[in-house]
Amino acid sequence: MSEELDLDYFKKRLIERHESILADKETRKRNTAPKELDQSSIGRLSRMDAMQQQQMSKASARLVEQERRRINTALKRIEADEYGYCILCDEDIAVKRLQFDPSLLTCISCAQNAENV
Ligand SMILES: [Zn+2]
Repeated sequence: MSEELDLDYFKKRLIERHESILADKETRKRNTAPKELDQSSIGRLSRMDAMQQQQMSKASARLVEQERRRINTALKRIEADEYGYCILCDEDIAVKRLQFDPSLLTCISCAQNAENV
């Protein structure tokens, strides 16, 4: 590895982020009780708003779930001493990238390639 990674630091950040995701999940579960789309108490427009909001929170829940999976993978890679290498091309991931988001598993060029697909 060209640059020494402070694995303890990244591990701590990953675990903290993981815990806060789980805490958010619990909160969301409590807030999205089934009575949310009660048709008798709200008009048609606000029902559409509610549906739109539900769509949006579903989409963001999906993103968070992806992040949660990346965090699990990143933690496993720390244990396996593979953390900091791109899972696609095996090159070093820039430390700046990991500091921005410790759950990132790919180097910048692989990430850009993936986005362009
Ligand atoms: Zn790569």
